[in-house]
Amino acid sequence: DALGPTLCIGEIIVEIVATTTGDGFRHPQPLLGPFPSGAPAIFISQCGRLGGQSAMIGAVGADDFGALNLARLQSDGVDVSAVALDPEWPTGSAFVRYRADGSREFVFNINHSAATRFGWSEPVARLVARAGHLHVMGSALSMPPAREVIVRAAAMIKERGGTLSLDPNLRKELSGGPEIAELFQCLVGLCDLLLPSGAELFPAAGLDAPDTTEAQAIAHLLQRGVTEIVLKRGPNGASLFTPDSVIRAAPFQVDEVDPTGAGDCFGAAYVTCRRLGMGAEAALTYACAAGARNVTAVGPMEGAGTLAELDDFIRTTARRI
Ligand code: ATP
Ligand code: MG
Repeated sequence: DALGPTLCIGEIIVEIVATTTGDGFRHPQPLLGPFPSGAPAIFISQCGRLGGQSAMIGAVGADDFGALNLARLQSDGVDVSAVALDPEWPTGSAFVRYRADGSREFVFNINHSAATRFGWSEPVARLVARAGHLHVMGSALSMPPAREVIVRAAAMIKERGGTLSLDPNLRKELSGGPEIAELFQCLVGLCDLLLPSGAELFPAAGLDAPDTTEAQAIAHLLQRGVTEIVLKRGPNGASLFTPDSVIRAAPFQVDEVDPTGAGDCFGAAYVTCRRLGMGAEAALTYACAAGARNVTAVGPMEGAGTLAELDDFIRTTARRI
């Protein structure tokens, strides 16, 4: 961590989950929450819990949902000096209900909430000036203010010899137009570590043709200068690709009760362990453990573990070969 904290930029929201599976929210039903959430917030919270220096840029409203999020980030050791408190707009929110087939229905209030009400400010400039790593969440690129801060921070941090990771996190509900696709490709060109999930690999490589193979997409990305690619495979574990090695990580066997946030915790654990000086294979083990442990708890970041908790999880949980 010699170069300074890991930084994440974007939406901070609460999540409220339906306690039954079924079709959406057109009828009154039991709900559980609010839980602190937002992909960038989940990521940075997991970084902090693991003991990595970490800091967040975003905004919350001056309400209980905002206070809940700030309290969680602070208790995880995350620097919140650049999280703005918006006096007017409420904290962002997402209601989510799972269907029996595992698909999700959302009601979002993000774009018209405090979640988007931040920009380049004094505290943001101070933080970016001392950050050593930036993790970019694809989901944040659909928010124009976040986009501007991300582009500026990425350039400054790379310039100073810092590093960049990118999770495409392409949500169909939040997808953008051609301008975002272009910016996304520019970030792929800058990043040192790419963390796609399943089929996100292909648009990330800019090779979306139906006959492109995984190996072709990986080769193309390595050639573009991405030095580590970690492909997330949900319940099937993950694979790490570098210019001179491929490591397949078997999944930990868990009872999944809430898959939300697995990818964010996984990415945070990988980045944090690497920045704490661990080798790629050890970091991959912690990442798989962080993702698997997080799906065993209801709530997007409720299963994020400390280093000691992940050590315990690794020791006591079987892996499916
Ligand atoms: P998110 O919904 O957070 O965006 P994602 O699609 O980015 O998730 P996943 O591949 O679902 O990411 O999960 C990340 C990692 O967590 C996986 O690569 C795997 O190692 C671990 N993981 C996730 N779900 C499970 C599971 N049910 N069993 C074991 N490991 C899991
Ligand atoms: Mg993801």
